[in-house]
Amino acid sequence: MLRSLILRRISRWIAFSTVIFSLVCVVAMPQLISRTQLLNNLNKSVSSKLGFDSALSTTTVPVKPWASPVPVMHDGHDSDEPTDDNDFTTTTTSQQPQLERATFVMLVRNSELHDARSSIRYVEDRFNKNFHYPWLFLNDKPFSPEFIHMTRSLVSGNATYGRIPKDAWSMPDWVDRQKARECMRAMATKNILYGGSESYRHMCRFFSGFLWRHELLVDYDYYWRVEPNTQLYCDLTYDPFTFMRENNKTYGFVINLLEFPSTIESLWPTVQNFSREHPEYIHPNNALDFIVDDNKNITEGGYNNCHFWSNFEIASLKFWRSQAYRDFFDFLDRTGNFYYERWGDAPVHSIAASIMLDKEEIHWFYDIGYRHHPFTHCPEPKQAFHDSGRCYCNPTQNFDRDPYACTKQYRRMRGDLDVPGRVPGIPEQPVLNRIDRGKGNGLRTKLKMSTDGLELMPGDEGAAQLQKIEDGEGK
Ligand code: GDP
Ligand code: MN
Repeated sequence: MLRSLILRRISRWIAFSTVIFSLVCVVAMPQLISRTQLLNNLNKSVSSKLGFDSALSTTTVPVKPWASPVPVMHDGHDSDEPTDDNDFTTTTTSQQPQLERATFVMLVRNSELHDARSSIRYVEDRFNKNFHYPWLFLNDKPFSPEFIHMTRSLVSGNATYGRIPKDAWSMPDWVDRQKARECMRAMATKNILYGGSESYRHMCRFFSGFLWRHELLVDYDYYWRVEPNTQLYCDLTYDPFTFMRENNKTYGFVINLLEFPSTIESLWPTVQNFSREHPEYIHPNNALDFIVDDNKNITEGGYNNCHFWSNFEIASLKFWRSQAYRDFFDFLDRTGNFYYERWGDAPVHSIAASIMLDKEEIHWFYDIGYRHHPFTHCPEPKQAFHDSGRCYCNPTQNFDRDPYACTKQYRRMRGDLDVPGRVPGIPEQPVLNRIDRGKGNGLRTKLKMSTDGLELMPGDEGAAQLQKIEDGEGK
């Protein structure tokens, strides 16, 4: 009797539980299903936005096989809080496949946030959305939380924010501060571009001798330098870092031009001294013909002021880290003339590359349409670059044809071989004169051609810098 009562109770309890369980399933299942669907959809839209899901993407840009559906963990946009000294790296483990050991590098001030965002967006849209290379942002001051937030939201690879150590952004001990100040004052009086700026000199010395030793670059073999407020005009459908590695390229540029001679008065004699002291560093198949006219050697010839415009650079870090380049930089730095004069990182890099590399290691990325105020490089051949929609710049504004450009010297150095985009018979055109003179109020209104090359027209810039030096700012 008791047993049957217990059995009946148990079976009633089982029946009741079954009913409850079924009810729960009926109510909860649609929600579970829709939740899963939602997550799936979300994943799809995120990956398609980031360019991972080639099946969903309608883009005709051929992406590398590995750029298609891979469950990539995107950079933890919301996971990192800025710290005081913001020497930190984003924490996500990148599962990106098969990238080169390469990164974008941007030296930038907090105040340039929106110009930086613009450049990032160009690079992402034209190239990196399909590749997801990391970005490294460097600053002599801590990055603001706003800067970090607003740049991180635009990148498709990891973003890292670093500080420049003090010794890489200050006058070395052996520089006589008083003398440096007087030199800056004198250059500002002569209206030499950035003649009175101390921070500009730190920047040039940093790029010449310290970028490649920064601890946040140790894991990389190549970098692509990006400046705020620069534009890219052509889709890049291949990986330029892979191109560099596979073709043994060390230094890649887009624009070449003449330097202001008044900023580098003693640079070439110093290089000549260096070459006498270290003939072993001069490459037998060098690119000297790019920087010295008339087939002369280093010690006999003069510098023609040609250089690669280093605001765009895709380069191997191995070269800058080599003993040869370290000795070269130290030799230059000992003179103090990064400060007494105003030696730019562009002529320093260009001269080093031209004398110490095999000329075959230097590459003109002719196919990268690029603008840094006030000059544009726009690839000209219509069929290859414009009919296809690959580029959208104006080829008549191509700076390569300008007499201030060093295209002629570059072609001479290459023996006129394999220089891309050459359209025989079309004469040089003074692009700068035609499009850049007299418009706007920046550098372009102030350039003129003198017998020495490019110079600045008198303006009030020097006077403003002079005032800053007098006020003790010197920035
Ligand atoms: P220009 O291209 O020669 O006219 O020189 P820019 O003013 O564009 O400077 C070159 C690069 O260095 C840019 O990426 C700037 O953002 C950066 N830069 C220049 N001065 C400073 C500075 O004082 N601090 C920081 N953090 N970046 C700087
Ligand atoms: Mn610039």
